[in-house]
Amino acid sequence: MATLEPWKTFLLESIRNVPDFPRNGVQFKDITTLVGNPKAFKIVIDHLAERYKNANIDFVVGSEARGFIFGAPLALAIGAGFTPIRKPGKLPYTTASEKYSLEYGFDEVQIHIDAFSAVKNARALFVDDLIATGGTAEASIKLIERVGAKCVEAAFAINLFELKGDEKIKKLTNFYAILEVEGD
Ligand code: AMP
Repeated sequence: MATLEPWKTFLLESIRNVPDFPRNGVQFKDITTLVGNPKAFKIVIDHLAERYKNANIDFVVGSEARGFIFGAPLALAIGAGFTPIRKPGKLPYTTASEKYSLEYGFDEVQIHIDAFSAVKNARALFVDDLIATGGTAEASIKLIERVGAKCVEAAFAINLFELKGDEKIKKLTNFYAILEVEGD
């Protein structure tokens, strides 16, 4: 396996693994330790800003709640607007919704129907901290396109590649992750 660049090793080491959260058998990747370290947080935002600064992105779209942490500073850094995708009942104006299945039951995400109306043929970038099965990102990308923007790429700090969420996303848009991580 190729050696990881030192800055990526540094980022990986700044993420805390919490076993058995939120339930038995899940290794939770806790990014509060990454964003709590100003050097690590800046590396992530600077890296994504470099990648997208000339991509003509009108809106960075982040999903509740950790997508907000990376999405908002990235939007400012590249001169784009920020659009939140939220859990049901949180957005105050008229929303569009998308349901997606989980291991047990389903979940739902929502966006304001006029989120992109200020820009004709808006170009959106979807951002989240981590992709696991890809269900949240897939539903979010569908929502973005349903309310009138083109989702030009989906970007993540961490890809749990064994869960193959990236394969789902590549059917819909371009995929990018800073860190490829084993495990669930
Ligand atoms: P998924 O829809 O399965 O791709 O799950 C992605 C969402 O759940 C993201 O918003 C992640 O923040 C969160 N998530 C899922 N699995 C983990 C994990 N092992 N560690 C941290 N966050 C996770």
